[in-house]
Amino acid sequence: MNLIRVALDVPLARLFDYRCDDRAAQIGARVLVPFGKQKLIGIIVARPDTSEVPEAKLKRAIAVLDAEPLLGRADLRLLEFAADYYVHPLGAVIMATVPTALRRVRSREETPIAYMLTAAGVAANAAALPPRARAQRELLVLLQRKTIIEHRAISALGAATRKALQIFITQGWVQNTTLPPQKPAAMPEPSAVPVLSAEQSAAAGTIITALGTYQPMLLWGITGSGKTEVYLHAIAAALTRGSQVLLLVPEIALTPQLESLVIARFPGVPVATLHSGLADGERASRWRDARSGHARIVLGTRLSVFTPLPDLGLIIVDEEHDTSFKQGEGFRYSARDLAVVRARHAGVPVVLGSATPALETYRNAVDRRYQLLTLHDRINARPPVISCIDLRHEKITDGLSARLIAAIGKRIARNEQSMVFINRRGYAPVLMCGSCGWMSDCKRCSAKLVVHLRERRLRCHHCGHDSPVPTACPDCGDADLAPVGQGTQRIEAALARQFPQARILRVDRDTTRRKEAWQDMRSRIRERTVDILVGTQILAKGHDFPHLNLVGIVNADGMLYSNDFRAAERLYALLTQVAGRAGRGDQQGEVLVQTEFADHPLYAALRDQDFDAYARNQLAERRQAGFPPYVHQALLRAEARSVDVALQFLGQAARHARHLKPAVTVYDPVPANMMRKSGRERAHLLVQSSSRTDLRTFLNAWRPHLSETSSTAARWSLDVDPAEF
Ligand code: ADP
Ligand code: ZN
Ligand code: ZN
Repeated sequence: MNLIRVALDVPLARLFDYRCDDRAAQIGARVLVPFGKQKLIGIIVARPDTSEVPEAKLKRAIAVLDAEPLLGRADLRLLEFAADYYVHPLGAVIMATVPTALRRVRSREETPIAYMLTAAGVAANAAALPPRARAQRELLVLLQRKTIIEHRAISALGAATRKALQIFITQGWVQNTTLPPQKPAAMPEPSAVPVLSAEQSAAAGTIITALGTYQPMLLWGITGSGKTEVYLHAIAAALTRGSQVLLLVPEIALTPQLESLVIARFPGVPVATLHSGLADGERASRWRDARSGHARIVLGTRLSVFTPLPDLGLIIVDEEHDTSFKQGEGFRYSARDLAVVRARHAGVPVVLGSATPALETYRNAVDRRYQLLTLHDRINARPPVISCIDLRHEKITDGLSARLIAAIGKRIARNEQSMVFINRRGYAPVLMCGSCGWMSDCKRCSAKLVVHLRERRLRCHHCGHDSPVPTACPDCGDADLAPVGQGTQRIEAALARQFPQARILRVDRDTTRRKEAWQDMRSRIRERTVDILVGTQILAKGHDFPHLNLVGIVNADGMLYSNDFRAAERLYALLTQVAGRAGRGDQQGEVLVQTEFADHPLYAALRDQDFDAYARNQLAERRQAGFPPYVHQALLRAEARSVDVALQFLGQAARHARHLKPAVTVYDPVPANMMRKSGRERAHLLVQSSSRTDLRTFLNAWRPHLSETSSTAARWSLDVDPAEF
């Protein structure tokens, strides 16, 4: 009997066996199978000799859908590794990574990639078509001449051509096809390539020398040191060798810039950009471009780490410290960590780039497990001068110190740009009653409702709650309600009062919601029609604004004290990024941090801009306190209507864990840092060990029990290497 083992997109944590007599059924191919009353598309992951399911009960697969496997051996190996490492069911892992359009039965078709003629089409005579059918005649001639034409190219030819294409498809003259692999024989003449600095050149050289072997590397370069240029040189070398390159970036917001840079640098080299903003069909067709080997560069956010790449030769992870590389729900993988695993499997170099590497990564470099490539200097610019404004000795107006206001005034007079960074959107973080002390709490979250004054709304930034600003206190009826604290809107208003002539631009999630908004804003900043930028972390990352010379940081203190042991590391990284926007042109940049804790070691380290000293210090503390990277952690998360139900489930799980006599430490269940979210209450249970193997062995023994004891009352998930608590 011929058997196949199939991964399916169902909530059951296992694989499913079917009979399948199609001898062509290959591992990695899609297959249509019956499942209960439905039909589902799954992926064949094995062809076992025997099944635990009795023969009489085994159903028969309906059809194998791919002659060529959709996932290759290397792809499945990575997915299997991930399933094992993150203790997540293989079926769910596979289904989370294959584009939805490729695993939907009967649905909107995946956008075709390209077309070619069938034998009937090749034999057809264009001259025999009726004279009125001009579009058809032209399309037929074109297809006969070019063999393969991209969907994009045909779409661009207009409605008549598209209609002609549909006619040809219906009459069997045209079929879908994929694009052939495009290996550039020699690199096309690239657009103006800058000459590398000595440091850049050394870094790029080291990467290029490593091509063809597994070598993890940390490219640690201060902001403005030209890391991107190092990537581009390494990419050029990899392309020339006939390799595909995987370039991972933290956020969609950053992809358009890098995409245009890459396309301009490598004209004619097909680039597939993959991120969550794409329509399903588009995502599937780009994924196939990568899979077929047609696309030579894949530029994408975290999920693209799984993209099949037959000729993979180099992986780059830009801003590797960024928390968005970690998936925060469901299959909670770290794309950065899997990038390193993938590179090891494939025997290729992987470059992790950052100005403020994650401590996990930095430790690997310090211990020489990763090769360290350093860029100490800015390109054609000096690093900014960072200083603190001690709020205890300053006059403050609407959250802005006199010194910061004066500094902005000076820059405006010199026709230079300034930026005020505040990590909170809205007008004020809370509305408060002056007579009874009532505060605008969200009923569904452990959080305050934020005042959005312009829209006159109270909004929760966690669950989306949205209600009008009340005119009187809901508790005591007094009208003495006041917004407390600062948000971007309030700082914007304050700046407008201080500088009535200045052109002020607010950049936060509210003003950049529209699709092209941020791109338009970036051009306005570059064209110097903006004097002062006010905004949140959107402004922090990767932007190069040559006329921006002053950065003011307002209200960072709020992030200084947190019970998450990674809070300091993240704040340091964020402030370094923000500070790094200043002085990237020929003027000296200036960064002013408003704080009530000017003596805090974090600010001292930031002023010195000595990441190495700071990181080593933090690592020493982590080692002493027994925190990662010196121990390995996993978190069992649970959520329920009430925290008691969640804690009860976790308590049971903890008892069972101890019963297993584990070689790991099992802590007591505690409520999550943010206990209520969207009406659900959350708690977790931490287990940790200094041995990765012990932790994994324990988790694999523990998981089946969790599935058994869980009830519908409490939802749970396992989070290996948790990034937040
Ligand atoms: P980072 O990502 O390290 O902060 P960028 O890659 O943004 O730095 O580079 C900073 C600026 O320097 C960019 O405008 C970039 O175009 C420019 N640049 C990088 N390398 C060179 C070079 N070798 N010669 C001239 N300009 C360069
Ligand atoms: Zn009141
Ligand atoms: Zn809420």
